[in-house]
Amino acid sequence: MIQLKNAAQIKAMREAGRITGEALLVAREHVREGVSTYELDQVIRHYIEKSGAKPSFLGLYGFPGSACISVNDEVIHGIPSKKRVIRAGDIVKIDVGAYYRGFHGDSARTIAVGKVSDTAQRLIETTRRSFFAGVDAFNAGNRMGDIGNAIQTVVENEGFSVVKRYIGHGIGRDLHESPDVPNFGNAGRGRRLVNGMVIAIEPMINQGTAAVDFDKEDGWTVRSRDRKLSAHYENPLAITPDGPILLTV
Ligand code: MG
Ligand code: MG
Repeated sequence: MIQLKNAAQIKAMREAGRITGEALLVAREHVREGVSTYELDQVIRHYIEKSGAKPSFLGLYGFPGSACISVNDEVIHGIPSKKRVIRAGDIVKIDVGAYYRGFHGDSARTIAVGKVSDTAQRLIETTRRSFFAGVDAFNAGNRMGDIGNAIQTVVENEGFSVVKRYIGHGIGRDLHESPDVPNFGNAGRGRRLVNGMVIAIEPMINQGTAAVDFDKEDGWTVRSRDRKLSAHYENPLAITPDGPILLTV
């Protein structure tokens, strides 16, 4: 069942979203050649806890980090590690959530380290642009398929592919709530969008094949099957009578 949010709840979610977004900004300042993904995770954890919040991901389904940090062909759910050291030319996805006063934030960015390939840069920009195309379709009266279709159209026009195995979601008192928010679909189809709906739109976009593999050894990391690059961009949003608003910074 979809938990629609009232104005007070949406206001509270903006606070969780703000802390989440700020944690990402702080993390971004630390992303450079030679830093480990463990160090980035510690920076994020410290910032969230200093803000009076809790890292949403820490311990969720047993996840050992405060953020998911996924490099290059890793799509999502990378485990922060002292052994994983960032190199120039990498693209680094940081996915963070902060739980604050009863509500979760959930945002992700893809960061280019030093000089990256033109394709990597275009992949990152296309992923961001596809997110905002999805946002433009997130209006009361539209349908869920309008969001997915808008994202998919931007991505496929650039010759990239939408990961289908993982999708966006409702968000609120739980990190993952109903409804599902696919990054693909048919315009005019699916659930109707209504005021009070709060969702995380999060395109995961692959340079090559949409197919992904799950790492059975570490139990978490998802990689592109062809081991080409992947990018991610995410924010939570609410539909209000004044239109959609981003619940982050
Ligand atoms: Mg996320
Ligand atoms: Mg999410």
